[in-house]
Amino acid sequence: MTISNRRAISLVQQIGLLFRGAPKSKTPKRATQPKRAPRSHRNDDFLHRVWTTLRSEYFPDRPDLDTYTVSWSPRRQKRVLASCNIKQRRVVVAKELFEPSACRWIQAVVYHELCHAVIGEAVHTSGGRRQWHGREFRALEARHPDIEAMNVWIRSGGWAMAVRANRARRTRRARETPTP
Ligand SMILES: [Zn+2]
Repeated sequence: MTISNRRAISLVQQIGLLFRGAPKSKTPKRATQPKRAPRSHRNDDFLHRVWTTLRSEYFPDRPDLDTYTVSWSPRRQKRVLASCNIKQRRVVVAKELFEPSACRWIQAVVYHELCHAVIGEAVHTSGGRRQWHGREFRALEARHPDIEAMNVWIRSGGWAMAVRANRARRTRRARETPTP
């Protein structure tokens, strides 16, 4: 979120206060803990904006990639953070990335998939198998400053932890929702 956005939101909140009075403080805010991705990020438009912003910054000569469909996965994911279907020009990103411990990697995850789209199907084969993450891919990927740290996060179990946290959150919510 840009500063100007944040200012705009705070202004809207202030205006809201004029009409509604002070905000109700039902739940104490835990300011020290990282927050989930804000609601404004949990829609496909946001994700597609991340995609086109990265595309124009890193691959200015590939505006053709802006027509990709980029969306949050409708299904729960365990293993896959995101996937890129080159034939269908479609990228799907796991909603588990909303988790507080994970949302800072959304951009890096989208960038990883963008690199797949840039290379397309022209990947090297080795022993009859396609090298989706070959040397050329890794070189492209390394241009983004967060990729290395994200890979460390995944390898050290950060993603698995986010998936578990998400599952626990859903279980909790299901328990709290009264059955009719
Ligand atoms: Zn990949």
